[in-house]
Amino acid sequence: MSNQTAFEAASTVIPGGVNSPVRAFRSVGGAPRFLVSGHGPYVVDVEGREYVDLVCSWGPLLLGHAHPAVLDAVHAAVDRGLSFGASTPTETELAEAVIARLAPVAVEGRPVVEQMRLVSTGTEATMTAIRLARGVTGRSLVIKFAGHYHGHSDGLLADAGSGLATLALPASAGVPAEIAAQTLVLPYNDPDAVTAAFAEYGDRIAAIIVEAAAANMGVVAPREGFNAFLASVAHANGALLIVDEVLTGFRESAAGWLGLEPVAADIVTFGKVIGGGMPLAALGARREIMEQLAPLGPVYQAGTLSGNPVAVAAGLATLRTADAAVYERVDLVADTISNAVDEALNAAGVEHVISRAGNLFSIQFQSTRATDYAGVQRQEAFRYGPFFHAMLEAGVSLPPSAYEAWFVSAAHDDAAVSRVLAALPAAARAAAAA
Ligand code: PMP
Repeated sequence: MSNQTAFEAASTVIPGGVNSPVRAFRSVGGAPRFLVSGHGPYVVDVEGREYVDLVCSWGPLLLGHAHPAVLDAVHAAVDRGLSFGASTPTETELAEAVIARLAPVAVEGRPVVEQMRLVSTGTEATMTAIRLARGVTGRSLVIKFAGHYHGHSDGLLADAGSGLATLALPASAGVPAEIAAQTLVLPYNDPDAVTAAFAEYGDRIAAIIVEAAAANMGVVAPREGFNAFLASVAHANGALLIVDEVLTGFRESAAGWLGLEPVAADIVTFGKVIGGGMPLAALGARREIMEQLAPLGPVYQAGTLSGNPVAVAAGLATLRTADAAVYERVDLVADTISNAVDEALNAAGVEHVISRAGNLFSIQFQSTRATDYAGVQRQEAFRYGPFFHAMLEAGVSLPPSAYEAWFVSAAHDDAAVSRVLAALPAAARAAAAA
């Protein structure tokens, strides 16, 4: 079977041939690779071609594909049964492991995360975090930032209205205008916009939700002090700060981005690495906030497969394996690859900056580093498609969009990194010729 025939067959029975839109290669063109296996830093497609994987399932695979410790834990869990719809001791162990990792992120001596609730996707985690913030504050409006992605729940698929601090418009067909209008979409890294929104709507704002470091418009780091400013302006106005660590959590450091830049988050959402490649996500907060959730409190949330024992086993094994050496390796691989991308593009004369937040990075095809979504969109994104395809031809699988972060893993050994470096000069020339 070729990738093309696999894609055609899929497209008959699955809309667009994919179960999540960005997989469809719409922005880079061509048929997506249909994968059959992964090992360490590599994935293999239906044609038997092997690629160095710099997508890593969009983040979960901090340890690479099919890590033996994770597989062993999953196999053992599978043998005990797939799902009980009842509590298991391992859910407690996972909550304890996360709380221990976040313990250094304390505010006035008190940990930011004292209790956790496990869910299955990042979308559920942020959706529940928002419901919880609304339940706690008795308010409705939510601030989000343009270019930040928090999953596909209705209220978070919102685009900025015209003018600063106006209520948002639906960003997808099927989202009622009334629901989008519960969201305020503001420019990222712009404290004045946040101040203006609170001046206008202060006593109606339940929460600000922010990616701990933005990585869904390509990577755009928060300006120094921006996240702390969000905490203080939220708290001064009786609102909560939801820090979304679905993508950054347990990847940027043992305690995620908050481990690098602790701020007074009220609710933190997790996904991806916490499930080690299985469907698992979570939210956490101080006890009095979390105890507002059912069955103790009035905020309802539930899930048939929440805390699924196989997913929990994968997550626990991933967190237990991800020691300091793992983070050192991930940081080193990110440094090496991002520096080499920079050099190759310089050598080819392509205007660009490498945009980084910790070990996450992406290319902006423009000379000035953008700090918000409008700025990111000014780049020459058309250069990414030829760059991407040249890398793919050379056996390196990159995210199929200029507006996505590159993900590396601790399994990216020197051999895999060398393959990436060897592919870069020709890809940079392809970007130059675009
Ligand atoms: N929040 C962030 C920051 C994300 O990056 C994502 C997914 N890329 C989500 C939430 C949604 O997670 P999921 O795809 O598991 O629903």
